[in-house]
Parts: sequence; C-alpha cells; structure tokens
Amino acid sequence: MIELKLKRGKEESLLRRHPWVFSGAIDSSNGEVEEGDLVDVVSSDDKFLARGICATGSIAVRVLSFEQVDIDEAWWMERISRAMDVRRALGLIDNETTNCYRLIHGEGDELPGLVVDVYGKVAVMQAHAVGIYLMRAQIAQALVDVVGVSAVYDKSSATIPFQSEVKVTDGYIVGSSVEQIIVENGVQLAAAWEGGQKTGFFIDQRDNRDLLRTYAKGRRVLNTFCYTGGFSLAAIAGGAVSVDSVDSSARAIELCTANIEKNYGCCEVSHSEITADALDFVRSMPDDAYDLIVLDPPAFAKHRASIPNALQAYKRLNAAAIKAAAAGSLLFTFSCSQAISREQFRMAVFSAAAIAGRDVRILHFLSQAADHPVNIYHPEGEYLKGLVLYIA
Ligand code: SAH
Repeated sequence: MIELKLKRGKEESLLRRHPWVFSGAIDSSNGEVEEGDLVDVVSSDDKFLARGICATGSIAVRVLSFEQVDIDEAWWMERISRAMDVRRALGLIDNETTNCYRLIHGEGDELPGLVVDVYGKVAVMQAHAVGIYLMRAQIAQALVDVVGVSAVYDKSSATIPFQSEVKVTDGYIVGSSVEQIIVENGVQLAAAWEGGQKTGFFIDQRDNRDLLRTYAKGRRVLNTFCYTGGFSLAAIAGGAVSVDSVDSSARAIELCTANIEKNYGCCEVSHSEITADALDFVRSMPDDAYDLIVLDPPAFAKHRASIPNALQAYKRLNAAAIKAAAAGSLLFTFSCSQAISREQFRMAVFSAAAIAGRDVRILHFLSQAADHPVNIYHPEGEYLKGLVLYIA
C-alpha cells in the first residue's frame, strides 16, 4: 500500500477523526498514486494515521478507516451493518408505513463519498469519489447480503467529479428494473430513481412533510419546487382544501400529477400542477391566495464563492412569499445549501420579512431527517435547514 506522508503538524485533524486530508497537507508519497487508489496516510514521523481513497481534487484523501484493516467485502458488510443498526434504532427497518430510508449518508455513516438510499427491495447508490465507484461491485454485494435488497442501481454519473477520468454509466449492478412503489408515511409515490433527480426522491424531508401534514387542515396550500409532490401529498393527507404544486421541470410535474392521482384519484381533492419558475410564480401570484406555502429550492450556493448571490436569492424568494401570504398563514421555508449556515439562512429570511413588512414569528427550526446523520467530527455534514413561520 502506498503511503502519503503529511507535513509536520498536519496530523491534528485526523487525530480528531475528521475524515478528510486536504492536498496542501501532504508532504510526499513513496510511490505513484492514481485517482481512486487505496492509500495509507502517515504522520511526518511515520506513524499510521488512516487508510482511505485518494482523489485529485482539494480533498486528496477520504478516510475509510482509522485502523490498518483490509477494505474487503467483510469490511463493507460490517460498515453497512453499523449503518443498518442506526436505521433500526430509528424504527425505519420493517416499518409498515415507510419503506424508504437513507442507509448510507457519506461521512455521517463513516463512508465518505458514498450515498445509498433504500426503496423497498431496491438500493440506489451514488459514488461521489472515484475510489468508491471502483469498489461498487463489493458494495453492491454487501448491500444484498446485509440489507436483503434484490436490486442495486448505481447512479453515479451525476456525482462523480466531472474532471475524473473514469467513464461512468448508470445501471443495475445487481438485479434489474423492478416494480417498486415508494411508501412514505403511508403515502405512495412512483419510483423515479432511473429518470428522476438525485436517487429518485428527497428522503431528507420526511419529518418536515409529516409536520406539514399536521398543519394542513383547511388550508389552501402552495408547494413550490415540488419535485414529485412529497409535500403536496402530505398536505392532502392532512386535509388541505386545495394544493397547487409548482416546479420548473416538466418531468417532475408529470410525476407529481401521477402521484397525486395514484393516491387520491382524479377528483377527490382540488389540486393543480404548474410548470413554471417558482420565483416568477411567487412574485406574480395575487395576495391572500394561499395560507400554507412551501419554499424548498435546490441548493442556491454550491460552493463558498456563490454564498452572497445565494443569500440574495433566498431573500428575494422569501420576501415575495411573505408579502403575498394570507393573514394567519404558515410558511415552510428551506435551504439545502451546505455552504450556507443556519444563522446566514435565518438572517436572509429575517431580511425578507423586513422587506415584506409583515409580522412574522418563527414556530419551528427544522433540519434533515435523522437517517441523514451528521458525524460529530465532520460538521460539514449538516446541510438542510428550515424554518416554519407564522405570518400574522
Ligand atoms: N420539495 C421537493 C424537493 C425539491 S428539489 C420534495 O419534497 O421532494 C428541488 C426542485 O426544484 C426540483 O424538482 C427542481 O426541478 C426544481 N427547480 C429548480 N429550479 C427551479 C425553479 N427556478 N423554479 C421552480 N422549480 C425549480
């Protein structure tokens, strides 16, 4: 195994179990390494620190273990079993009303560079690092053995860094396309991992959708950035009088309509789906048309450099929604930008309220669901934040 030696004093973060080594911390290597290789990281005085996979970006090594162990199928089975234990503790295994959960949340499950979502009998994996992608066959087999899924779909083409040399095509590593309905809190959604965004569904909003359900009774709901309609379905389940769902993706709108009709038939509830830019929609909608609004945009800040523009965008979007909201209404507003802190997001919403000039109270502080755990040594794993506002 090739060893990468750190510069003197650069071992501190690994000793605190932070699972990344930045390229600037590396002094030398005792051989040629290629992107994706397994390597050992040693201190300037040659003490073993960690074993991980290397990459060409600024994160040079992602740590798989702080011990000198073989990374083989037994190791993968053990790591995946540990992640299963957490989901079992959360009541997500053999759950009668919810059959989908995030099983591996990267660093939060001691597996930097890997995301696995489980939908019933299917696991969908995304490798964010070449080294993980190269081990996909082992990972898939371990998922079959530990979780008991019958199919593993790899969807790494969108997540492997674009400058990498490996050619990635999505497809089944185990099994083949199967009929699988996603069930979340009793609501049914068509599977969309092959044609949809991310792994097919935004599981991280499960608890927030459930909270929304408890407030929806009698309300006219607007769900912007609706994707396949997770919040829309929760609103209907909670007794909303009407639900309008907006997304700029025609494919998402198609899935959203199909999901609503699958659960409620064509005419049981008043619903409409609109393919439009959400900011344009919110800016031009009449005042007092809605008394529960959801704003769940994609990450506006993909990296630190875009934080100022992203904060402006959150402010504009929230100001328009707060301004038009009916008296006594609720606003569920989110940011999934990892680069933006909870405090920054709250300040953007504060500015939005001030621009709209309304009386606004914060009722809830929300985050990602518990099956998206944050490794305490890796605070960067926290990304989703939300506020529920009451607008008088
Ligand atoms: N709330 C959803 C997840 C939202 S993901 C859920 O619970 O499942 C973000 C969504 O925003 C995607 O569906 C994407 O198509 C949509 N989107 C991106 N830019 C948009 C824009 N400018 N206007 C409207 N929708 C947009």
